[in-house]
Amino acid sequence: YLTEQEAIAASELFDLFCVATTMRQILGLHRDMCDILGLRPAPINEFYPMLKAKIRSWKAQALWKKFDARAAHRVYAKGTACNGTHVLVIGAGPCGLRTAIEAQLLGAKVVVLEKRDRITRNNVLHLWPFVITDLRNLGAKKFYGKFCAGSIDHISIRQLQIILMKVALLLGVEIHENVSFERTIEPSGDGFGWRAAVTPADHVVSYYEFDVLIGADGKRNTLEGFKRKEFRGKLAIAITANFINKKTEAEAKAEEISGVAFIFNQSFFKELYEKTGIDLENIVYYKDETHYFVMTAKKHSLIDKGVILQDFSDPAELLASANVSAEKLLDYAREAAEFSTKYQMPNLEFAVNHYGKPDVAMFDFTSMFAAETSCRVMLRHGHRLLQCLVGDSLLEPFWPTGSGCARGFLSSMDAAYATKLWSNPRNSIMGVVAQRESIYRLLNQTTPENLQRDTGSYTVDPASRYPNLNRTAVSPYQVKTLIDSDDPKVFEQPIAEIITTPALAEAPALLRKSRRSTDIVPEALLHWVCTQLHMYDFVKELQEPADILKNGKSLCALISRFRPDLIDYSATRDLTLAERNEVAFRILEAEYQLPRIMSGEKSVDLEKVDTRHWLHYLNQVREVFRGE
Ligand code: FAD
Repeated sequence: YLTEQEAIAASELFDLFCVATTMRQILGLHRDMCDILGLRPAPINEFYPMLKAKIRSWKAQALWKKFDARAAHRVYAKGTACNGTHVLVIGAGPCGLRTAIEAQLLGAKVVVLEKRDRITRNNVLHLWPFVITDLRNLGAKKFYGKFCAGSIDHISIRQLQIILMKVALLLGVEIHENVSFERTIEPSGDGFGWRAAVTPADHVVSYYEFDVLIGADGKRNTLEGFKRKEFRGKLAIAITANFINKKTEAEAKAEEISGVAFIFNQSFFKELYEKTGIDLENIVYYKDETHYFVMTAKKHSLIDKGVILQDFSDPAELLASANVSAEKLLDYAREAAEFSTKYQMPNLEFAVNHYGKPDVAMFDFTSMFAAETSCRVMLRHGHRLLQCLVGDSLLEPFWPTGSGCARGFLSSMDAAYATKLWSNPRNSIMGVVAQRESIYRLLNQTTPENLQRDTGSYTVDPASRYPNLNRTAVSPYQVKTLIDSDDPKVFEQPIAEIITTPALAEAPALLRKSRRSTDIVPEALLHWVCTQLHMYDFVKELQEPADILKNGKSLCALISRFRPDLIDYSATRDLTLAERNEVAFRILEAEYQLPRIMSGEKSVDLEKVDTRHWLHYLNQVREVFRGE
């Protein structure tokens, strides 16, 4: 129940959230809105319907319509296809967020980590038609009215991240900024499942247990164990430059260049060289929030124009900052931009980058990397972990051709599909991995022309996107090396046909038996409580999980630890143990919508209470505070 004032406040926050333009604002407004509504990030069915029921403005309704249409697709099985699966996504770049959205729609619990605290990349991404349709269907226009207006087929990385972050949050994804993933922590048999070591070390995310890990942290992929293959071509030096779009009449007239390569327009490049000494292989210009240029420059012209100081054969030495004149690079980029827009924009001013400097950069694309395989599986002490790479971590794109985001989105959907198959315990691990690798083989051959025509029907199901799909190109026996298990039985699992229908609807009993990491592990629960309350003497009394309730102090102490504003812990000392739990139950119900399942009296006895019920209750308490 919301008071009228609360309802108005929540609606106002929602409106501000929709137009917010920085990560801090977006996350802050979302948190404030959720606080008023008594919601916290959770799997889609535990979050989105409640949000939808409470925010009913006209703008919100239009967005809910889009989300409802998307979520209704049968591939998601009404948000139950990945029930019980816990996903951790490393990186809130476009592909990490896109993967998070699909996993959320499939019903998983999804947490995203982002090491930065700002979204700042001005560079502009070319969007293939299916990406435009996809983003429109996710309500992109509701957050960014100018999204792909008319024939525009590009967007700044920053704006794309903003849109996707908002969609993810409204569907219930949990996002943490300023947190770096460091490495995975293997289960050691103490009851905990797979976790992540992060910086800052004691961040709440370090308690999150997951069974799917998505590496979406860009080309410097931090996930261990993935081999990379290198594609070495001839020297390719790309320069990107962003100028402020002041939206003057003259700027409006300047024509975009959506990819001119030397072979298609030799006279243009010859004239450019003759007039300016700038020798390019190609150039792209998009008029977006900035005037964005990306060009591939020939080495000799960079040396002749004083941008590169000394010639080296090794590209790393050649482009080392000590060997580059920052000033001449700015001149070079500006001259190329002015010439290619026919000097229609005479007073071009550089936009600033993440570091407050003119937004010009030079990158080496001589070697490009791709992961040899797209996924890996690890099993320790009965806890399974599927690791998938997506986006630039999986396949590094060559920016001037603009394939990055499109192939990245395809990989996001493929990873989400693998997550769906993984969530069904009837599927053999080797079968799931083999299918994921079969689909990965198609990725670097994709073009806008050779994908399925009906872009509006794309889903995580690869058949909806790839016309020549062969799900068995890689056999289960070929992927044995991608599975690192302490239990050899995993290789004996019969390889049956992969089941694509949702796990829970089909085999709930089996699911409970064979899934470990998302089940409640009582010892892990006890361990978590003891760690949180280590400063209290009574922790010594907590010998088994039931003691958390029976000793009557833990719940009040937990509330005091995370929300001291809700309880005066010292004042509870005069109460009986049952009364203390009673106080805690009431607070948890009022503040966190955790329905009480027993009286205070019963909680200190527990004889007549089903173990599963009180364990479930305590697990919810842990989930509530893990997010604090
Ligand atoms: P990214 O967009 O790189 O996102 C990765 C995210 O992970 C980042 O937000 C990063 O901060 C975060 N991260 C990294 N490590 C960690 C960690 N340990 N823990 C938590 N978070 C982490 N493509 C073009 O087509 N044209 C361009 O001009 C262009 N310019 C680019 C400029 C830069 C500086 C970069 C990095 C990429 C550029 N790209 C460009 C590539 C394009 O951005 C990607 O293809 C596209 O964004 C999809 O990438 P992604 O989500 O896989 O990775």
